[in-house]
Amino acid sequence: MKIGVLALQGDFDAHRKRLEELSAEVVLVKKPEQLDEIDGLVIPGGESGTFLKLLGEAGFEKLKQFVHVKPTFGTCAGAILLANEVENPQQSGLGALDIRIRRNAYGRQIDSSIREGRLGKEPIEMVFIRAPKIERVGPGVEVIATEGNDPVAVRQGRVMAATFHPELSEDTRVHEFFLNLVRSQS
Ligand code: GLN
Repeated sequence: MKIGVLALQGDFDAHRKRLEELSAEVVLVKKPEQLDEIDGLVIPGGESGTFLKLLGEAGFEKLKQFVHVKPTFGTCAGAILLANEVENPQQSGLGALDIRIRRNAYGRQIDSSIREGRLGKEPIEMVFIRAPKIERVGPGVEVIATEGNDPVAVRQGRVMAATFHPELSEDTRVHEFFLNLVRSQS
């Protein structure tokens, strides 16, 4: 099982380390054709507008095809890219998750914070950095983590997303959840 981490920009290395800690074979994806070699993909946090620029039209189309057939996990900017509706400002998305997501939704005062949320019913530390908010969850979308009343991690079929950064906490459960998802699909 090979897991790709999109390595154009952002905190891809923290994902690589976490996945390797969990014994996954990791490929840093810098070229669209590398998507053909992997069984699942992580799209890290960073700046979603910059991702779109760096991907270019051809890279975007290739990634879109990938996320519609293979397991993918997006964190923060990655979650924004996977959504089918993006606000503040509007931006194109890969349309893999039926959610509406609002960029930089917590404002400048609480740019970054560490809060306790729930993964299922269990408490879990969550690191938020200029985080977006999931404002609408479509009927086929399962909420897998919450913070207060807000959904902060969701899953639709083989695609999942988190608005926080599990790769920056010690806890490995969210990545384990993704690896199990990849295993169940391959
Ligand atoms: N604010 C970024 C965006 O809108 C996301 C921040 C992050 O990935 N930590 O793309």
